[in-house]
Amino acid sequence: MGLWVLSDDDRLHVSMAPTGRLREHHGCACVLHWTGGGHGPVASIVDVLRQVLACAGPEEFFVCLESAMRLKRIDAAGVARLRARVPAWARPLVDDARWDADSGLESLLRFRLRPYRLRIRSQVMIPTVGRVDHVIGDRLIIEADGHDNHDGESERHRDLVRDAAAAALGFDTLRFDYAQIVHDWPSVREAILAKVDAGLHLCGAGRRRSRT
Ligand SMILES: [Zn+2]
Ligand SMILES: [Zn+2]
Repeated sequence: MGLWVLSDDDRLHVSMAPTGRLREHHGCACVLHWTGGGHGPVASIVDVLRQVLACAGPEEFFVCLESAMRLKRIDAAGVARLRARVPAWARPLVDDARWDADSGLESLLRFRLRPYRLRIRSQVMIPTVGRVDHVIGDRLIIEADGHDNHDGESERHRDLVRDAAAAALGFDTLRFDYAQIVHDWPSVREAILAKVDAGLHLCGAGRRRSRT
């Protein structure tokens, strides 16, 4: 269905209706899910997402769900159906999913920061800077650089210009790439939480210092 996925899973996953009949598949390593709706040859998006949750866990589920929403593979009625059919503990994930996540990386970052209950805004337009991926609190910008859109000196120059413009407005910017967010999450988490612990994500009178 063209959804973002995190893991490379070469296995074939088969959606079976609970009342379905299994034909012989000797020597086949497919994964069977007996939770399908049984309508037609292609599983419904709601069944697929429920099966991703059961099979690959909440993180993969959240990324796939936001991808399905972004790509309009699921509509609001489908999201409501999905919400009703996942376990109660997974419902907050459905409630938090956004229609406008720009990439799987962005979804993953938001998922991994959920436990810290930070105020995170995504796809924020800042005058003179442009659209940034996330703002934590009032003024901590988090940029998640994808696979291919950040190579070359001109991209780097553009990022530096943006960071300077943001700094002039009092923003602090942390920038991470795909490999860091996916494979080295602890270092990303510690970098973000150190800023938050120091209160550097907040403005407010208490934090202002004069330039003397
Ligand atoms: Zn099989
Ligand atoms: Zn599966």
